[in-house]
Amino acid sequence: MLNKIVIANRGEIALRILRACKELGIKTVAVHSSADRDLMHVRLADESVCIGPPPPNESYLSIPAIVSAAEITDAIAIHPGYGFLAENADFAEQVEKSGFIFIGPRPDTIREMGDKVAAINAMKRLGIPCVPGSSEPINDDDAATIRMAKEIGYPIIIKAAGGGGGRGMRVVHTESHLLNAIAMTKTEARAAFNNDKVYMEKYLQTPRHIEVQVIGDGQGNAIHLGERDCSIQRRHQKIIEEAPAPGITPEQRQAIGERCAKACRDMSYRGAGTFEFLYENNEFYFIEMNTRIQVEHPVTEMITGIDIVKEQLSIAAGNPLSFKQEDIQIRGHAIECRINAEDPRTFMPCPGTITHFHAPAGPGIRLDSHIYSSYKVPPYYDSLIAKIIAYGETREFALARMRNALDETVVDGIKTNLTLHQDILRGATFQRGGTNIHYLEQWLNM
Ligand code: ADP
Repeated sequence: MLNKIVIANRGEIALRILRACKELGIKTVAVHSSADRDLMHVRLADESVCIGPPPPNESYLSIPAIVSAAEITDAIAIHPGYGFLAENADFAEQVEKSGFIFIGPRPDTIREMGDKVAAINAMKRLGIPCVPGSSEPINDDDAATIRMAKEIGYPIIIKAAGGGGGRGMRVVHTESHLLNAIAMTKTEARAAFNNDKVYMEKYLQTPRHIEVQVIGDGQGNAIHLGERDCSIQRRHQKIIEEAPAPGITPEQRQAIGERCAKACRDMSYRGAGTFEFLYENNEFYFIEMNTRIQVEHPVTEMITGIDIVKEQLSIAAGNPLSFKQEDIQIRGHAIECRINAEDPRTFMPCPGTITHFHAPAGPGIRLDSHIYSSYKVPPYYDSLIAKIIAYGETREFALARMRNALDETVVDGIKTNLTLHQDILRGATFQRGGTNIHYLEQWLNM
């Protein structure tokens, strides 16, 4: 096993990684900004290093600061978590060049999957079904662009090749808006991602977001851990996730899962990853691959009994996958609610001091959170403060437990979206399951 690792992240995921390390006897180094001295995992880590001031650019996104922290603490590996530098191929490369193990895929894999056009082309070659669209970035040949959109058929969606976090996308319904929409998306993409490459795809009107969790050891072994449904979204950002996806049959799971696992074997994929699909009329359409642990990984852990973070650490140590596809049994149902420090109506972030916190508990309840009474939520970072995960033998029981957990949770001093979750969970349509990606926004507008 690894001896000592740097956890290059903050908040709940840093604590999640720290817990896995402690179970495995791996020593931990917490790196943090000066605003994060009081984070729970910083207190619990074997060592901690302040890597800079609060702005992410000067701390959590500073490659030299993180690599130096690994050097001065004699760590041998770096876990990037999600967000920040997790899908930055230059970071992974720099980590490896400096003699450390990057706990994630090879830099070239991250680079290829980080360019969505390259990723889609790779997936087509590997036999993964994709959304009909342009297989090249949109260029200056306007006549060809107009022709291509017509062939795909309106509505189409213009997307940034380097996009992420639900930004850099624009839907176009008619030809008269096409070129203008492309120009605007390019400008936004240049500003947000420093990359103005855009491409077009058929805009699917009422799809669900269903994704497949995979894990590979970089030695040619790879398996899938089933799918998750992440259709409850606002502005393309996930709010509730569940596994398995309602209505997906074991045969469908096996078919799409095996295709993803095979694609991973073919590219000798190393680490945890997710194939994201839109699902409409019983068909899966690949949209992108995430080359990291995801926020919603716990729902998969609950229904498979596999600890994905521990497996990431084992693979990084050079071990082969510790289980085979036939060892994976899906049992029961799990659901996750993302609790954010934000106004439940305006969605404005709401940092501040948590005066009192009472955690939910009981059978089947898991809480992944770094907060505690008197913890001050800083204004500089993502507003996620807790993930409540509920497990039940059936979806109905998981939902019942989640409703109880939400009702039990108390977060005083700041605004949170707890009430939004309570309302969603009590909606009859949500309870039936299988809602599409527009459901939440339509429901909010009612
Ligand atoms: P990001 O990397 O920013 O998360 P994705 O490509 O994963 O971008 O897309 C995020 C969300 O945007 C999807 O979950 C879906 O809601 C919407 N979306 C993306 N592509 C399409 C499409 N072709 N048709 C309809 N909705 C789409």
